[in-house]
Amino acid sequence: MMLGSDMRVVVLTGAGISAESGIRTFRANDGVWENHRIEDVATPFAWERDPRLVWRFYQGRRRQLLDVNPNSAHEALVSLESYLDEFLLITQNVDDLHSRAGSEKLIHMHGELRKLRCEMCGEIIDAMDDEHLQDQYVKCVQCTNERLRPHIVWFHEMPLRMDEIYDAVGECDVFIAIGTSGHVYPAAGLLSIAKDTGAHCIGINLDPPENVILFDEFHQGLAGELVPALVTKWMSE
Ligand code: NAD
Ligand code: ZN
Repeated sequence: MMLGSDMRVVVLTGAGISAESGIRTFRANDGVWENHRIEDVATPFAWERDPRLVWRFYQGRRRQLLDVNPNSAHEALVSLESYLDEFLLITQNVDDLHSRAGSEKLIHMHGELRKLRCEMCGEIIDAMDDEHLQDQYVKCVQCTNERLRPHIVWFHEMPLRMDEIYDAVGECDVFIAIGTSGHVYPAAGLLSIAKDTGAHCIGINLDPPENVILFDEFHQGLAGELVPALVTKWMSE
């Protein structure tokens, strides 16, 4: 495929793009954390029932961000963004590796580990200092809430900025999905929307995803190897 700089490109990434940075996908963990199914710690009900457990789980995920770095796939998407006039990167990931690599036109549809949110007053803070990464809860600076929650879209909650996402996918010329299994909706449904739009759909993943037949091109392998090679090729043809 030849990619003109005036083509509208939307990229969707999932946990697979961060795997080579050392952040495990759910599946690589067998979906289990200390005998709890991840689906059971990542819900609003769990936060109500056992906030301490949920807090401990997310503090571990949040502290891990200090030990990992963006990889060549995150970096290649920054080059792609600067080559194109119209671009949007939608990530299901809650890590901060795309932004640390330098991506700017970026939507974190499932929230961000870096941030904490107040359920009483709506305040959202970037919370990666030492004082925010301990086992005790973090208090709200704007109101009396003693317990900020992770700024994460949990199971049963609505992903963020879906209007902008549907607009961009509904108008794109090229749709590229990287490191995502096609199991988690509504993210998994974006491919069929892009397909209906008439976009050229490209998939890059270690295993063939659930919805593999919808792709016009599917590249099987490691994101860290395939994404830089493909981006270079698309920009030079
Ligand atoms: P997923 O459903 O997006 O699946 C991950 C996919 O990546 C798998 O199909 C796997 O074959 C593929 N993959 C693994 N290593 C790869 C590599 N090196 N190169 C290319 N592809 C690779 O992810 P999931 O783990 O099932 O998580 C679902 C949800 O959980 C996400 O939507 C996200 O919100 C959250 N999550 C986020 C992170 C993160 O922020 N890094 C990590 C785990 C889970
Ligand atoms: Zn507050």
